[in-house]
Amino acid sequence: MNEVISQLITLQKIDLQLDTIDNQIKQAQDALDQQSAMLAQRESNIDDLHEQINTLEKERRTLDLEMNEELAHVKSRQSKMMQVQTGREQTALLKEIEDGKQGIKEKEEKIVAIMEEVESLTAQITRQQELLQEDSKNLVAETSRAKDAIAAINKNKKEQDSKRQQHAAEVEVRLLGKYTILRERRKGLAVANVLAGVCQGCFMSIPPQQFNILLRGDRHLDCPVCQRIIYHLPAEEKE
Ligand SMILES: [Zn+2]
Repeated sequence: MNEVISQLITLQKIDLQLDTIDNQIKQAQDALDQQSAMLAQRESNIDDLHEQINTLEKERRTLDLEMNEELAHVKSRQSKMMQVQTGREQTALLKEIEDGKQGIKEKEEKIVAIMEEVESLTAQITRQQELLQEDSKNLVAETSRAKDAIAAINKNKKEQDSKRQQHAAEVEVRLLGKYTILRERRKGLAVANVLAGVCQGCFMSIPPQQFNILLRGDRHLDCPVCQRIIYHLPAEEKE
C-alpha cells in the first residue's frame, strides 16, 4: 500500500481513539455536573419551602393580632350589656357580639389551617434534607470515583498523544495541514476508503474514472463530494 495513505490511516485511527477518550472524560465530567445541579436544585427547593413557611407564619401573626382585638371588643361589648336599658340597644349589642364571635371563629379556623400547612411543609423540609444528605454523600463518593476514572483515562490519553506525535511527524506538513482541517470540518473523519465506487465518508459514488485510479492502490485523491482524502483498500485488507 502507498506509504502516505498508510500513514494517514494510522494517524486517523489514533485520532479517533483520542476522540473517544475525550468523550469519555467529558461524559464523566457531565455526569458529575448533572448531579451537582440536582443537589443545587434540591437546596433551592428547601429554601422555597422555608420561604412558604415564613409567609404563612407572618399571616398567622396578623390573624392572631386581629383575633385578640376582636376578643377584646367582644368582651367590652359584653360588659356594656349590663348597662344598656332598652331592648333595641340590647339587640344591637347582641348582634355586635355575635358578629365578633363569628369573626373570631373564622380566624381560629384559618389559624388551624395555617398550622396544619406549616406542619406539612416542615415534614417536606425534613424529607428533602434527608435526601439532600444522601445525595451529598453519593456525590462525594462519585466524585472520587470519577476522578480516578478520569486519571486512568488521562494516562491512556498521554500514551496515545505521544504515539500520535510520532505518527504525525511522519506525515508531510502540507498534507497534515489538509488532514487537520478536514478532520475539523468532517466530524473527525478526514480520510475515507472507497468501496465499490462509494466514498465511505459521505456514501456518495465517485466517478468511475477516479475509482479506477484508486483501484491501482498507489494514489490518493480528494472525494469530489465531501473533499475527504480517499483511497482504496479492499474490505478484507482494511487496517
Ligand atoms: Zn466523500
